[in-house]
Amino acid sequence: MKSTYSYLTILFLVLLFTINHGYAQTNTGIRIIMIGAHPDDCDQDGGGTAILFAKMGYAVKFVSVTNGDAGHQTMKGKELAKRRFAEAQEAGKRFGVTYDVLDNHDGQLLPTLDVRLQIIKKIREWNADVVIAPRPNDYHPDHRYTGVLVQDAAYMVAVPNVAPETPALKKNPVFLYYQDGFKRPNPFRPDVAIDISNVYAQKVHALDAHVSQMYEWLPWIGHYLQQVPQDKNAREAWLSQHETVQITPEVRTSLEKWYGKERAGQVQYAEAFEVCEYGAQPTDEDLKKLFPMLAKQE
Ligand SMILES: [Zn+2]
Repeated sequence: MKSTYSYLTILFLVLLFTINHGYAQTNTGIRIIMIGAHPDDCDQDGGGTAILFAKMGYAVKFVSVTNGDAGHQTMKGKELAKRRFAEAQEAGKRFGVTYDVLDNHDGQLLPTLDVRLQIIKKIREWNADVVIAPRPNDYHPDHRYTGVLVQDAAYMVAVPNVAPETPALKKNPVFLYYQDGFKRPNPFRPDVAIDISNVYAQKVHALDAHVSQMYEWLPWIGHYLQQVPQDKNAREAWLSQHETVQITPEVRTSLEKWYGKERAGQVQYAEAFEVCEYGAQPTDEDLKKLFPMLAKQE
């Protein structure tokens, strides 16, 4: 009799562990890696979504494929790379993510085997479930080639004989693209749209860490340097206005799909992503698991 009880207890514990473990696999442990060409790209294109992931306790890493050593009108080289690395680390703290910067020159990126292997390594080391990168059509060659490089890594991360010193992933992650406005050869398709209204202020505060970009270089190259307030406190409020990305009709439709018409109508700020054809192909249910903020309809 006693042994039957023990047997049942063990069975119960095993069952409990299995249930918990199953729960853990679907609801925790999602690992996200966002990849950009420069040490402010992930921030602008996916920063709000990264904050939401981080707030729910998920691990997010940003990777800049170049060191940003060309992005300034008066500084350059090692001095600029050093400044931008420090800015990226501060931004990472404000987003709640870790921030890696690869030591490739800004403005000179090419889709070489060497850089592809660097990216494969990063995705594997992070054991990523979700990888987000730019599309391979963009005005900036560094953005374009970052898109190509990540696409080139999309299958290879699971091939053990490629970069064998870093163990291959057991399953291919889901790869997605950031939103952009380029129309050729095909416009961006918002498969997933995330409401970031509640964390928009935090996103702007994190972008504010990139002083050399937000208040110096981008305004200089964009011919609006005279608009930037001198006062440190006024700058962030100005940035908040300036960084606003209009929600397109297509993104609004995607928000309606994921959040329902009523809530979607109230969304002020959003980030959208397109599923890349080369990684794992998620169903809508899979996407809800990978982007758990979609299920949190508070
Ligand atoms: Zn960039």
